[in-house]
This record gives sequence, structure tokens and C-alpha cells, in this order.
Amino acid sequence: MGSGRYHSDDRFPRRRSFCSQTPEQPAKIPPVNPFEAELDRRLSGLHQEGLYRQLRRINSAQSPHLQTAESTLLNFASNDYLGLANHPALKLAAIHAVESFGAGSGASRLLCGSLAPFHQLEESLASFKGTEAALTFSSGYTAALGSITAIAGKNDILILDKLVHACIVDAARLSGARLRIFAHNDPADLEHKLQWAQQQQARTASTRILVITESVFSMDGDTAPLREIIALKDKYGAWLMVDEAHATGLYGERRRGLAEELGVSEGIELQMGTLGKSLGAGGGFVCGSRRLVDFLVNRARSFIFSTAPVPAAAAAATEAIAIVQSGQGADLRRRLFERIAQFRSDLGLSKPVYPGAILPLIVGDETKALAAAHRLREAGFLAPAIRYPSVARGAARLRITLTAGHTATEVGQLCAALRTLGLDGYSQP
Ligand SMILES: *Cc1c(COP(=O)(O)O)cnc(C)c1O
Repeated sequence: MGSGRYHSDDRFPRRRSFCSQTPEQPAKIPPVNPFEAELDRRLSGLHQEGLYRQLRRINSAQSPHLQTAESTLLNFASNDYLGLANHPALKLAAIHAVESFGAGSGASRLLCGSLAPFHQLEESLASFKGTEAALTFSSGYTAALGSITAIAGKNDILILDKLVHACIVDAARLSGARLRIFAHNDPADLEHKLQWAQQQQARTASTRILVITESVFSMDGDTAPLREIIALKDKYGAWLMVDEAHATGLYGERRRGLAEELGVSEGIELQMGTLGKSLGAGGGFVCGSRRLVDFLVNRARSFIFSTAPVPAAAAAATEAIAIVQSGQGADLRRRLFERIAQFRSDLGLSKPVYPGAILPLIVGDETKALAAAHRLREAGFLAPAIRYPSVARGAARLRITLTAGHTATEVGQLCAALRTLGLDGYSQP
């Protein structure tokens, strides 16, 4: 007690260290009833398969350096690619929004929560992406859920790339539409699925076909052949939705995303993304025509039936968009791609056409991937073992991400640690 002032050690009391032991052991409290016993059984199953996940508390801001109760870790796990999450200008924008608009939004946007910061954000987003309009959601996950289920119903057909994000898979299932999966980044297989869909359409004229892919894939870091996909969806009269979650801010002359880089934005009916990765804040968005946005305001249930996000998040994202479009955004991107080139050349990795900030090292076995991540953590580096269901069984990997916030020295330290630990020989997808 005493002075009444907190010391950092009091606020974050040192817990029993779990760092030196295998981190995957569950706390063994005997189950007290059948429900707890069943959960216990299921959790044990996850442990045995190397699929158990747990939260690790971080006592500092999101940045290249993370403070845990035990140590400081060099963070190679974040999607904060441009290093904006802890940027002073975003923090200041959030503070000003709190002062002017309060902490909470009070209600759904349609009731009385459509505060000015959301409208400013949507105007900025539309102008940034070069679309007529934009609509924001509380997350990228709910943006996918709301927009896909609004567009497609049980008479319709959804055709998804095999590796699309879980939010797209969940939305597709929830929509009740018939689903077809095309082989990853394979236009020939997409065409097969489109041919099938066209036959279905011949029977039921009201059937609509929506193709959905990512531009940069979240766990493999590779890029979709958007030009070929657009040519095909046009040929078969389908519509296209592209999730630019990992490309926004990183590609294209104006850093709009991979669609801009390839010059194909006009060919995409729905462009979605998140405000929580390169844009350093939180929330999700869909960009497209004014009619699309009007329709989603009326039909996207995750938008309608959910309290608006906090205004601070919208203000921070608006500031991030301004930074991304400025000379500072160009500098941050240049710095990020210098680090990516450094990492690839240090580890002798080949250079793809569109190198990205997601650098997976495929380990395969789940337990081995966990052990590799554990050894890296012991050496002071955070890079997660990505396992099923984030990726296929037997395709577990270390997912390393680089950001503009990393120094060349830090990337060099990571490469040296990967070599020392014998983790540099794993292949890329
Ligand atoms: C992270 C991610 C999302 C979800 O966005 P959130 O804002 O984190 O909910 C959607 N799609 C892809 C490809 C993602 O990687």
C-alpha cells in the first residue's frame, strides 16, 4: 500500500513462470461436474494433437518490443505491418475523438450511434480506395459475415478459394448458399466451378454467383491471380469479392492494395479489408458503389444488429489512412520492403513477384511447430506456431511477419537465431 502509487511490478504481479517449462501443460484442476469433465476431455484431446492454444498477457503497447511478465520479446507475430498501432498521431486522434464524442457509441449506427467519426472514416476510405462509397463494421470478421450473407442466399452460389480466411468460410456457411471451393490460386479449377454454376443458373434464373478470394493470403503470404480471376468472373457473369486484409497499405502506387497494383480495382464488385492490420486501429470495411453501401446498411445483419464501434477506433483509422497516403506512408512501406528483402536474402529465400510481409516457414507437424516457436521464444523472439484450424492439419508453420518498425539489426538477430536453432531450412509455401 504505502504511497498508493502503482509500481509496474504491482500492476503486473509476477505469475508462476510458465516460460521455462513446456507452455502446453494445462492447469490440472479436477473436474467438478459432467460439463467440466467433458471440457476437460476435449481440452486434453487438443493437447495431445498439439492444437492447444492459450493467451499470453502482454504488458506493453503493440510494437516490435513486447513486455511480458518474464521478459521482453522481439515481436515477429504482428500484422501491424506499417508500425502504426502505437503511432503518436493515431493515439492523439483517438484521444481527441474520446474528448469530442465520448468513449462509447451508445447504439447501432441505425438507431443513434452514427457518430461523425464513422462518416469521416468512410469518406476517407472511399477516397483512399478510389470507390464511390465505403461502409465500416466493428471488425473485418463481421464485415465478411454481414456483407456475404446480405448478398448471397440459399438460391445463390458462392465459389471460394481453398485458403480463404475463416470469416469468409463462416459467412459462406451462414448464408445458406451452395458452396464450391476452387484449388488455391488456380484459375483453371475456378473455371470448372464457374461452368458448373452456370449450368445451375440455367435451371434457376434467379441464381447469382459470387466468387470470393483474398489478394494476399493470410497464412501463406502469396498473392491471387486477380487479373485472371476477373476475366473469368466476367466471362461467366459472376460477381467478385476480394479481401485485401493483408494488402491494404502495402501495394499499389497509392498503397490501396493489390487490386491497385494490378490495375484491376474496377473489376471488383466488393472490396473488403480490415482497419486492424496495416491501418493500426480496429474495425473492418467494405468499399464499392453507393448502391452497395446503401444495400448493406439495409441488409447486413452484423452492421444493423450491433452497437457501433467506439469513435476512438474510427478516428485512429482515419488518421492512419491519411498517413498511409502521405510521404510518411511511402517511407514506411519502403522501410518494410527493405526488411523483407533483407530477411529473404539473409536466409537465401527466392524472390517472388510480389514479396510480402508474411513469411511462413513450413514445419508440418503441429507438435514440432510448437516446439520451434517455444525455442524461439526462449531466445527472445515471438513468432507463433500456426496450426489447424488456421491451416490444414500437417501444414503447421512458424509465421514470421515483418513490420516497418523493425530495425535492420533486429531482422538480422532473428535470422541469426533461426540459423542457430536450425529453423532456417524450412521451406516456404
Ligand atoms: C484478419 C483477417 C480478417 C478479419 O479482420 P479483423 O478485423 O481482424 O476481424 C479478414 N480476412 C483476412 C484475410 C484476415 O487476415
